[in-house]
Amino acid sequence: MKTWLLALQQQLSRQIREKKLPHALLISGVDGAGQQDIAQWLIKVLLCDSVKQDLNDNISQLSKNESSEAPLILQPCGFCKTCKLYAKDSYPDHLTVVSDKKTIGVELIRSLSHFFEKTAHIGLVKTALVNHADTMTISAANALLKTLEEPTSDSFIILTTHSSDLLLPTIISRCHEFEIRPPVGKALLAEYGQQGDDAFVNLSHLNELSDDSTAIAFVTFRDKVKDYLFAHQHRADILAILVEHHDGFRWLEKILVNLMRQQWGWPTAESTDEQVNVINKQQLWRVYNLVQVANGQLKTLVQINRQFLSEKLLADISVVLQSNAQTVEG
Ligand SMILES: [Zn+2]
Repeated sequence: MKTWLLALQQQLSRQIREKKLPHALLISGVDGAGQQDIAQWLIKVLLCDSVKQDLNDNISQLSKNESSEAPLILQPCGFCKTCKLYAKDSYPDHLTVVSDKKTIGVELIRSLSHFFEKTAHIGLVKTALVNHADTMTISAANALLKTLEEPTSDSFIILTTHSSDLLLPTIISRCHEFEIRPPVGKALLAEYGQQGDDAFVNLSHLNELSDDSTAIAFVTFRDKVKDYLFAHQHRADILAILVEHHDGFRWLEKILVNLMRQQWGWPTAESTDEQVNVINKQQLWRVYNLVQVANGQLKTLVQINRQFLSEKLLADISVVLQSNAQTVEG
C-alpha cells in the first residue's frame, strides 16, 4: 500500500468500527493517487467474515480503549468464505460496474439499482464499485442519484474518479468525498530529507491541462528540458521559452517536480523515463532549487531583466549538471 494512503485507511477503519462509514463514498484524487487500492481494500474489509466477527466480539472493548491506542487499520483475513469468493470474482453480494464503452450508460446503473434492491445472498453487507464515475452519462448519473438517496442499511456504493470536477454536483453532494493527496510540498521535501517552505506549485487546473495549443507547447518544452538535463541539448530553445513565454519558469519548475517524483517512484501523469536516473537525486534537487529561486525572483522583483535571469539560470544549471558528470566519471 502506498504510504500516503495509510492515513485514509486509518480514518475509514475507525468509521467502520464506529459504524459511521458513509453509505456512498467518492474516492477522488489525481490519476494514479491510489483510488483503486483504497476501493479494493475497503470492499474486502467490508465483506470479510472475520472482520465482521472481530468487530462484533470486540465492539464494546474497542470503544473503551480507542482513544488511547494508535488507530488500527482493518485488514481482510483472506481465508474466509467471502474473502475467497471475492478473490475469485464470484462473490454474489458485490457488483463492479464495468463498461465496455468510453462512458457508463444508464443500463449499467439500472442494473446496479436492481442489485441493491435484492436481498443479500450470503452476508448482510452488499457493496458496489463504480470506477471512473466521471464517465457516467447524464441519464446514468441521474439514475444513480435515486439509489444514493435511498441507502439500505448495509449497502455501500464506492465511486472512484480522477476528475471529480467532471461529476454532477448533485452526485458529489450525495457522496462523502475522500480526496487522496499524494505528497507534495512539505511531505515531498521530507522524503528528500530537506527542510524548506512549501513552495511547490499547485499542479492542477493550469492552462496547459485545459488548452490544447498550450498543452502542445508545454509538452514540446518538457521534452526539450529533458534532453537538456540528460544530454545537454536545446539550450537556445529553452532560453527562448524562458525569456518569451509567460509560463516558462513555472513550467520548468513543474517539470522538475515531476522528474523528482519519478525518481522516487511516485505516480505522475507521465510515464517514467528511464533517463531520469542519468541525473542523481541530489543533482536534480539542486537544479530544482535554482529554478525555484529564479521563479521567486521573477515574481517578487519588479524590475527584472528576464533575459539576464534566464541566462544566469541556465548557466547555474549547467554547472550542476557538469559536476554531476564529473561525479559519475570520478
Ligand atoms: Zn475474510
